[in-house]
Order: sequence, then C-alpha cells, then structure tokens
Amino acid sequence: MEPVSEGLSAGLSVGLDIGATKTLGLVADADGMILAEVREPTMQGAHGIVVTAARVVEALRLATGEELPGAVGIGVPGLVDVDRGAVKHAVNLDVDGDWLPLGRLLSDRLGVPVVVENDVNAAALGAVALSGKNDLVYLSIGTGLAAGLVLDGRLRRGEHGAAGEIGHLPVDPAGAFCQCGQRGCLETVASGSALAAAWPSGEIPPAQALFAAAADGQVKAIEVRDRFVAGVADAVRALSLAVDPKTVVLGGGVAHVGEPLRLAVAAALRAQAAASPFLASLELADRLRVVPADYPVAAVGASRLGRNGAGPG
Ligand SMILES: [Zn+2]
Repeated sequence: MEPVSEGLSAGLSVGLDIGATKTLGLVADADGMILAEVREPTMQGAHGIVVTAARVVEALRLATGEELPGAVGIGVPGLVDVDRGAVKHAVNLDVDGDWLPLGRLLSDRLGVPVVVENDVNAAALGAVALSGKNDLVYLSIGTGLAAGLVLDGRLRRGEHGAAGEIGHLPVDPAGAFCQCGQRGCLETVASGSALAAAWPSGEIPPAQALFAAAADGQVKAIEVRDRFVAGVADAVRALSLAVDPKTVVLGGGVAHVGEPLRLAVAAALRAQAAASPFLASLELADRLRVVPADYPVAAVGASRLGRNGAGPG
C-alpha cells in the first residue's frame, strides 16, 4: 500500500497497447487493479500513432481526474529497441523503413517519460500479473504466432530481440511457404491468419466460428481445428522443452475462444505425450492457462513498464 501522504496518484501507472486497429490504454494502481480503461481507433503511420496515444492518455487523465505522473509504458508491434525507445518494421501500423523514435516523440508530447516495449513482451509481463507466476511463456496466437518469455522474473528479449519467435520454427519441409522465406513454419499452421484461411467465416471471428462448428460435430471443422491445435501444441512443446517454464499462458486474438481452446491444446499435448513417458512426465497440459477475453494483458504489462521507469530486465 502507498502511504496516504504521497497523494492519491502516487501508486498509479499508465499502460498503452497500440494495435493495428485500436489502441487500448489503462490506469492501474499499485496492486494492479484497473481503475480506468480507454479505447481509441489507431491512426496509422508515425504521426498517427503518436496522436492516438496522446489522445488515449488525455482520456485516461479525464477518466481518473488525476495528473498521472510518472512514466507511460507502451506495447507496440514490430522490432523495438528498448534502450532508445525506437520501433521498426511495425508494418501493421504503417511504420516501416528507419527506426521511429516513438518514445521520444511521445515523451515530448506528454511531458512524462515513456517506455516502449514490443507488444508480445509487454503481454508476457501482463501474464505475470494475471497468473501470479514470474516464470512463464506467453504464447500470442494473433495474426502471427510469437512468444514472450519471462524467465526467473526477467524478460528475455535475446541478442536480436528474436527470443520467442517460435512462429518461424519450420516443422514441415513440405509445408506452405512463409513470409519469412522459410517453408512449413509453425505460423503457417498455428496462427490467426492461418486459421482464417483454413476456415473463412465472414462476419464472426473465424476462431470462434471454427470452434463452434467443431463443437457441433461438423467433421470438416473438427479436422481443421485439430490440425490448428496440434500446431499450437507443437509450439508449446518446443518452448517448454527449451526453457521449462512454470506456466504457459495462451493469448492473442484466437485466445478469445477461451476454455475450449485451452482444453483442445491440452488434449493435443496429452496425445503427443501418449507414447513418451519422458514427455508425459513434464505434464505440459497441466501448465496451460488462457487469458480471459476481457483482460487487457498487453496494456497491463505496459503499465508495469511505466511503473518501473526503465522496464524490467
Ligand atoms: Zn516463417
């Protein structure tokens, strides 16, 4: 608990999750309780995302009636240089080419320090808050497939920021070509875009449509779901064998399916372990969790970056 004398806003922190279509911002207190949440459509391009983020922070100030001092933490897709607060290759935000000094631009605009982190890494920190475990793999099944690693309480980014890029692990030499230049990557099977291609659903999200149809017993849907889920299980198995985390948290757009996704991936992990006493002994299926659909995991993680000022690790 913060001492009362430090003022109401002393323990508050601000986190933003800048996505391709929307930017979600929140204010959390020292215990991680969410006090205010704001969503704005994301304007594309360097100028657009700075304006959007500033608008979200202003709306949070209004919603809480607080000045919101301290740093603002930002989760953003693409390659992030955390030390410089710069982002590159955020193609979905129409930010490509040279490094964009997002942290400095936003800090100038907001008048507070800004900490920038890759969105999957930010979500991994949010998963720590959600699960209460500080040693985990967060597997983001969104448009692509990527993991964030928090090992012994520290975010593992890697030498090139590529730690957890499990989506580009090739598993099928005869598989589809991947945009990374390799063939048969996990992402070509176990990602939101792969699922949407295999089960085009029109208006409702393809993952929900697929799991509902499979639950109804549609043979083709069961086939497509099982292939997708086996790919997710491959990713969980590979990551778990590499770092043996306490828990594995499934997130990203596809995880909005919720428990049916967790149960299906758990079943696939048990099937993979059926012939291997070694694999079975690791009890990977029991380590799985799924982010609740209404939990803003990346923004929560970003708010923790903001609180720490310089970010963890
Ligand atoms: Zn690839």
